[in-house]
Amino acid sequence: MEKVMCYIPKTLNEALEIRNKEDVIVLAGGSDLMVSHKRTIGLTPKFDKSVMIIRNLPEIRKIYMDGSECHIGAACTSREIAESPLVPWHVRQAASRMGAIGLRNSATIGGNIANASPKGDTPGPLYLLDARVKIASTDGVREELVSDFIIKFRTIDLKPNEMITEVILPLSEDDFDYVFWHKVGTRKANAISKVTLSQAVKFASDGTVCDYRASATATGSKTNRSRDVENIIIGKRIAPELIEEVIAAFDGIISPRAMPEFRRESCRRSIRRFLTEAEKRRIEGCRDKVIDTYDGYYVPCAPVCRLS
Ligand SMILES: Cc1cc2nc3c(=O)[nH]c(=O)nc-3n(C[C@H](O)[C@H](O)[C@H](O)COP(=O)(O)OP(=O)(O)OC[C@H]3O[C@@H](n4cnc5c(N)ncnc54)[C@H](O)[C@@H]3O)c2cc1C
Repeated sequence: MEKVMCYIPKTLNEALEIRNKEDVIVLAGGSDLMVSHKRTIGLTPKFDKSVMIIRNLPEIRKIYMDGSECHIGAACTSREIAESPLVPWHVRQAASRMGAIGLRNSATIGGNIANASPKGDTPGPLYLLDARVKIASTDGVREELVSDFIIKFRTIDLKPNEMITEVILPLSEDDFDYVFWHKVGTRKANAISKVTLSQAVKFASDGTVCDYRASATATGSKTNRSRDVENIIIGKRIAPELIEEVIAAFDGIISPRAMPEFRRESCRRSIRRFLTEAEKRRIEGCRDKVIDTYDGYYVPCAPVCRLS
């Protein structure tokens, strides 16, 4: 059997040097890799290439603000993200509902993006908030929108010598009047998304919509968001016919394969519920930002679990 190495670099520079000279598998939390490389019961996972463990690199294990932008290190775990007050609300929601407690202590945001699963929970909010990934190699650093970086199912725009180092969020819930995030799953925890809808809306002083965003996971080969759909409502007052127009247009951009009608209907209900309630709260002058979604159709999600 060919010998494979396990590298545990102490600094980001060391990691980038290793990645530059050898085709290593980058392992962060390992929650996807240990499953994709598993063997039969009783045998440890098998890696056919050397592995580089990056989860404890200090440069990519921190959350901080730079001006108004929130920076999340690629090796930050779901638990760290869910518990950080610096992280925008939508992203905290997604991180807090991933898997179960054990998983949230190991799964990282870099791994969730690089895995490029359409059912991944964090890309929905990241698309919604125009998040960027920071990518580093020995050649330098570059940034790209998460929505461009994830090309399609299991395909990302990453060169063999590159690593994701940060996720940068230019927007947060403070930029909107009302926000919405909901995961439809089959259990309270350890539930892979059936559908996850993220939405946000901002009103102008005359009551018309000046910003509206909606993104959905598990409804196609990657997370779905469309500026054309969102623009239908911009500059207008929310009304039932307009909501139905948005719903029909959103229906046109999603292409769920399994359980298509369930997923489509979940999106329809989420959009209708959010926009109707947002308009109602605007008229009433209600400043309660978070619009919840339980109307009997949805499967409730797990509460945030604090472990300390
Ligand atoms: C039981 C179970 C339940 C789950 N539930 C959910 C769920 O509810 N929601 C959800 O979204 N996901 C879920 N997942 C999937 C998984 O936990 C997530 O995708 C997780 O975020 C992956 O992160 P990781 O650090 O463990 O990735 P790893 O397994 O370490 O890596 C995954 C991929 O990303 C690459 N990678 C990791 N970090 C970097 C980096 N910094 N730069 C470049 N490439 C990198 C790796 O090379 C690999 O290809 C679940 C998995 C399991 C096993």
